[in-house]
Amino acid sequence: MGKVKDMDTKESREQEILKCCICEKEIEAHPISGWSQGNNAEPVVKDGRCCDFCNDLVVIPERFKKVAWKMIEEWPHTKNKS
Ligand SMILES: [Zn+2]
Repeated sequence: MGKVKDMDTKESREQEILKCCICEKEIEAHPISGWSQGNNAEPVVKDGRCCDFCNDLVVIPERFKKVAWKMIEEWPHTKNKS
């Protein structure tokens, strides 16, 4: 009959459930990759992790905004405004 496999402490640590720093829901493992560590929540939450949902709806738009503001500042037309 099947022998019980040695319990690996590393394995149980890997299955620790992370919570999203933005919506506070549990971050579910990705159905394909199995990745369960979520996404980098910066610049919204420093050193935070967030779920795919918040990443798409909050973090990525926030990053775009930063880039957009930089572009506006560097835009030649805004400098000539008087
Ligand atoms: Zn979330």
